[in-house]
Amino acid sequence: MNLTLHQTIEKESRKTYGQVNRMWPDKLPYLESDEALRAYKRLLNRFGKKETMHPTLGWRKRKLHPGRKKPRKCWVCLSGDSNSLRRGWRRLVHDISHRVYDWRFPKSNRHHDIAQAKIEQEMAQFVIDSGWLNGTLKSKPKAKPTKDEKQKAKEINLVKLIRSWERKETTAKTYIKKYRLKLKRLRPTMRLGDIIL
Ligand SMILES: [Zn+2]
Repeated sequence: MNLTLHQTIEKESRKTYGQVNRMWPDKLPYLESDEALRAYKRLLNRFGKKETMHPTLGWRKRKLHPGRKKPRKCWVCLSGDSNSLRRGWRRLVHDISHRVYDWRFPKSNRHHDIAQAKIEQEMAQFVIDSGWLNGTLKSKPKAKPTKDEKQKAKEINLVKLIRSWERKETTAKTYIKKYRLKLKRLRPTMRLGDIIL
């Protein structure tokens, strides 16, 4: 059977998507919010690079900047089916591969093609190889402060407040002195009580 070029590309990209799907382990771990944001930033940092030709400056290195401060809701998966394409690790990698693909190939009008599938495949491999599925991007649980530490924190805060108001007190004194002097120069014999406000 002879395939047209278009059919060949379609077939290749389907093959790559199949490979991506088989790359993931059978049971994917859940994905927490902090973890998803870290994965997003690191994937952009790793894959969001390209060189573009500038008419006068020549080839220039470009970088895709994260922008978002929170992960997409569908990337986070804390219960239920973590293997679904709609949420968790697979959704995160799929979405980010689109973002990178659209940015690297802005003139392409095809939503899912071989280049996008290849990026997704590389990203999935990178996630697996980096050990992120073992929880390496998870936030460390914060130790609860002891009674002593809480007390110390309160003391530090009070000292800071006192210092801050002392500085204001000094500034206020300086201004009062300055305006009194101005008034004295303006009318040396005058006292503040002479004018009733
Ligand atoms: Zn897609």
